[in-house]
Amino acid sequence: MAKYVYFFGGGSSEGKAQMKALLGGKGANLAEMASLGLPVPPGFTLTTEACAQYYKAGKKKLFETIMPEVRKHLGKLEKTTGKSFGKGPNPLLLSVRSGAAVSMPGMMDTVLNLGLNPETLDALIKQSGDERFVWDAYRRFIQMFGDVVMGVPHHDFEHALDSVKKKYGRKLDTELTTEELKEVVAQYKKLYRKHTKKAFPNDPMEQLKAGIDAVFGSWNNPRAIKYRQLHDIRGLLGTAVNVQTMVFGNMGGDCGTGVAFTRDPSTGEHRYFYGEYLLNAQGEDVVAGTRTPQQITLKGSREWAKSAGVGEAERKGSYPSLEETMPRCFKELDQIRVKLEKHYRDMQDVEFTIERGTLYMLQTRTGKRTAPAAVKIAADMVKEKLITEEEGVLRVDPQSLDQLLHPVFDPESERAAKQLATGLPASPGAATGQLVFSADEAEIWAEMGKTVILARIETSPEDIGGMAVAKGILTARGGMTSHAAVVARGMGKCCVAGAGDCVIDYKAKAMKVAGVTLKEGDWISLNGSAGALYKGRIDTIDPKLSGPFGTIMKLADKYRNLGVRTNADTPHDAAIAVKFGAEGIGLTRTEHMFFEGDRIVSFRRLILVAETIKQLKKKHDVEKIGALEKAVKKDRKAVAAVKQYKQALAELLPLQRKDFEGIFKALKGRPCTVRLLDPPLHEFLPHDEAGQKEMAKQMKVKPADVKALVESLHEFNPMLGHRGCRLGITYPEVTAMQARAIVEAAIKVKGSRPEIMIPLAGSVTELADQKKVVLETIEEVKARKKVKKLDVLIGTMIEVPRAAVTADEIAKEADFFSFGTNDLTQMGCGFSRDDAGKFLGEYVAKGIYEYDPFQVLDRAGVGKLVDIACKLGRKARPKIKLGICGEHGGEPKSVEFCHTVGLDYVSCSPYRVPIARLAAARAAIMEKRSSKPKAGKKSRKRK
Ligand code: ADP
Ligand code: MG
Ligand code: MG
Repeated sequence: MAKYVYFFGGGSSEGKAQMKALLGGKGANLAEMASLGLPVPPGFTLTTEACAQYYKAGKKKLFETIMPEVRKHLGKLEKTTGKSFGKGPNPLLLSVRSGAAVSMPGMMDTVLNLGLNPETLDALIKQSGDERFVWDAYRRFIQMFGDVVMGVPHHDFEHALDSVKKKYGRKLDTELTTEELKEVVAQYKKLYRKHTKKAFPNDPMEQLKAGIDAVFGSWNNPRAIKYRQLHDIRGLLGTAVNVQTMVFGNMGGDCGTGVAFTRDPSTGEHRYFYGEYLLNAQGEDVVAGTRTPQQITLKGSREWAKSAGVGEAERKGSYPSLEETMPRCFKELDQIRVKLEKHYRDMQDVEFTIERGTLYMLQTRTGKRTAPAAVKIAADMVKEKLITEEEGVLRVDPQSLDQLLHPVFDPESERAAKQLATGLPASPGAATGQLVFSADEAEIWAEMGKTVILARIETSPEDIGGMAVAKGILTARGGMTSHAAVVARGMGKCCVAGAGDCVIDYKAKAMKVAGVTLKEGDWISLNGSAGALYKGRIDTIDPKLSGPFGTIMKLADKYRNLGVRTNADTPHDAAIAVKFGAEGIGLTRTEHMFFEGDRIVSFRRLILVAETIKQLKKKHDVEKIGALEKAVKKDRKAVAAVKQYKQALAELLPLQRKDFEGIFKALKGRPCTVRLLDPPLHEFLPHDEAGQKEMAKQMKVKPADVKALVESLHEFNPMLGHRGCRLGITYPEVTAMQARAIVEAAIKVKGSRPEIMIPLAGSVTELADQKKVVLETIEEVKARKKVKKLDVLIGTMIEVPRAAVTADEIAKEADFFSFGTNDLTQMGCGFSRDDAGKFLGEYVAKGIYEYDPFQVLDRAGVGKLVDIACKLGRKARPKIKLGICGEHGGEPKSVEFCHTVGLDYVSCSPYRVPIARLAAARAAIMEKRSSKPKAGKKSRKRK
């Protein structure tokens, strides 16, 4: 039979840190800390396999199996602690804590003080000599057990508590006397009976079993499910349950509880020990946001006071640091900080409790951090030689770099903005958006395409959906470790927490601050790095790419094999991408160049006569426009059409050439793949009446003619219509004009390395046709300009499945392939890019597809096409250059795939270039680590 229960504490443990999958993160690390000799209250962990059985075999069956084991371990715990569970003069109280392999803060349930009943209550009073404390513990227990285990509404308990407080004129919970607490307990028990139709259980084993049941059950509560969805957490067995000896931070002034990070989770700094605590408090109090938490270190405390506008005297009197209040415990905790970082070799997030001057460690885990912090910590730890360079690279999630690359407020316009309030800088970044006051509203507004800032008095786990769609989060209450702060940092979202001056009125959907009333929909701006709240919108500017970010990127470049290029259509975008480290352009879409300004007029003139030209060529059986010109000499109308066609091309040529010159200059000798015209011609025409009228006027034709033209070009399925190389085959003059513009620009800008890409070829004959036109043009330009040598590659996009499976044929005509995985996905999966949004969400939710294949490359299908094409292509042309230019080129999982199949480079939008560089390095390092050399791949050098 499987072992379902693991003991920890008393200097040794059955589990260890590596056993996270089985013991959950919390359980595995409690075991590890106990083995390290750190002061951990002993206990035992029920495995995630037990949780899986809970759902598979059912709870009845599971409890039959595990309860004997639980009893055995409880016996051992009693022996270790010298306490007895549910009876005797020295009663053992327990916490029952959830904890999965991946931490999901606050998503699942915990019950504290379990084991209290009238008998243990008396014993504990005698033992502790503190009657009030014991009654407070009891009322907390009833509340937590009732809420978590039996589903008695939380606010009913709050209401009961408030009514007693009101009756005796108490403001704070801590002011309630023993007698008053007894009254609370009586009310709680009544409430409990009302909701559950049962008396509150006195039998400790019954309490324990129900507690375990509730924690296992909480694995599938809606918010835990939503959290796993949002964070893409999959493939876990379930949660473990940790049953642990209680320690008390609420037994008086020499007690306390807190949470701390070994480095600053929001900046990565470690100038001092970063954390918060409260005197005379239990567990949840620090994160609940009901009392203002105090800082661990004196230095931290002084900085906090400064940003909170608290004077030194008030700080010292009302908010002293742990360093001041309990110097001995502080010192011990500080030593543990160093020990834990050395041991885990990563930033840790710890929970601790001090019971009557004795420090206990309740949790350690790898601390969640913002992207800037992750980068700084990784770079620092490499420098400190705590981790290797490769580990440094693996420590940063490529996707998270997104936050570093996006703009911050322009200091000028931030200075000019009206600041309304200050809060805590809970999660860095800048956000401008429209105010909403509930998570639901946030989701609705975001759905409508609006940019929102979610303002709440404080957030709770129910709000995560709304937080996920908001640009920024503002709370009126709560500290740096409040729910809003922790979740926002995890999401990489700007957050200002505890802005106490904001008076939020949910009913009125309004907020009063600094004498201003802001309503739902009003624009505000948040600076999460400074903790500032501003009225209105603020301009943003680009981020800095040096410092720790530069260090990590340099390391990424050292370890990656894949090249990284960018998709850019303008010199401006190309320059940004080069700044972000792009090694060239993998896709320039020339059609964008046809839209701007006067060009669209020229191009529309061409489209207007294009069909006539096609018909005339057919009628006179000629291919070239020159030959047609001769053939139609006497046909006045035809002569005019040819003239207009040629004139339009002549107008477009210098404009295109100038575009390419600009891009080549920005690239400074880096390669540039230029795709020839791709979209169908009707995309360039106005589809509304007003637009058509206007075009008619410009073209000096009748509006009815334009309308007829648009109708004649209409396609039922444009994606599969007259586009890509199919256009060039009908109108080779357009291909020639584009090729000429590219080549002339390349001659003009020394060192240019153009790569001409023919789109949408499905058969080698299509490619050969267009290649011939391009080659003729190149030769002609070379001769005219007297240029002998010119490096121009000619290749194709692989985006039609037929091209992928005949890639050996195609490779004979192609210097390079670039996988256009957007269209390849569309045609490979048979999902219309424009319509699949309607059902792909459901597909992913039901697990029919693991991911949206337009976002994450579908390895099994589309990926297989890519793989086949790579192999066939290389067989026919060993030196063929292989790249990808679809949206997938900047998506980390897809980049990993590109590495695996051995592409030479990926290409993505400028802002994703650093993400791709890091993802490529990770893929290379992970492959090296798994040390299984991939088939068909030699050691590769970047081209
Ligand atoms: P979460 O995963 O939500 O952090 P935890 O299991 O860590 O949940 O527990 C919630 C709170 O209860 C924490 O603040 C923790 O410090 C406190 N707590 C848990 N176990 C004990 C214990 N044995 N003694 C005292 N406090 C505890
Ligand atoms: Mg915890
Ligand atoms: Mg395409």
